[in-house]
Amino acid sequence: MTQPVEKITDIPQYPSVGSLKRHLTINGCRLCSLGFQPQINGVCVARGSELANRMIIGEAPGKEEDSTGTPFSGPAGRLMDEIWKSVGMDTNDWYITNVVLCRPYSPRGSGKENFTPKQDQRRKCRIFQHKQIELIKPKIIVTIGAVATAELVAATTVKMGDYRGRLIRNNWSNSHPASQTLIFPMIHPAAILHAKGSDKYDIYREQTWQDIQTLKKIIEQENI
Ligand code: URA
Repeated sequence: MTQPVEKITDIPQYPSVGSLKRHLTINGCRLCSLGFQPQINGVCVARGSELANRMIIGEAPGKEEDSTGTPFSGPAGRLMDEIWKSVGMDTNDWYITNVVLCRPYSPRGSGKENFTPKQDQRRKCRIFQHKQIELIKPKIIVTIGAVATAELVAATTVKMGDYRGRLIRNNWSNSHPASQTLIFPMIHPAAILHAKGSDKYDIYREQTWQDIQTLKKIIEQENI
């Protein structure tokens, strides 16, 4: 595969998430190997409200997200919308993006549609994640699944069982864009969908039901 050519320092100074979105949608991205995959349509930046002070960060676009250019527009996203609705919240009131902005495409016959983005790919895409946090200035970030949670707690990997449903007040230096942001990890809705037919299905559903109620309470208590 062709090596990335654009250096991180070549990234333009985006004055708004709109300009970041436009630039990446029009020009694509060549910061890591994901942007060079011939099977993908392009970069999938964000959906939801740019005026929100609440953010959701997932792992990576999937097949449907890649074809629509919209994060969480496939089955996992539809389930996430339902989960939010169950407590009277609307995902349209949130700014929604992913740790990596290009679909990690798994080759046909591999048994998977997408692969888990690699450390190097996550690291290269971090510049866009940080820029979006800097511009949106969320009071809370809900991390969806282990990849996003690891990213926001600055770990390489995490076990969701240790993190889900717990509010994290990061104690980062002020130079980190999320230093003042609450972090709330939740189970990935794709994990719930994949667990259908196994014992984990009911467990994940029950845990998610508890966590979304906790999230609603936090939003009210913290006046977010
Ligand atoms: N899973 C994610 O983590 N993000 C999406 O946008 C879709 C599915």
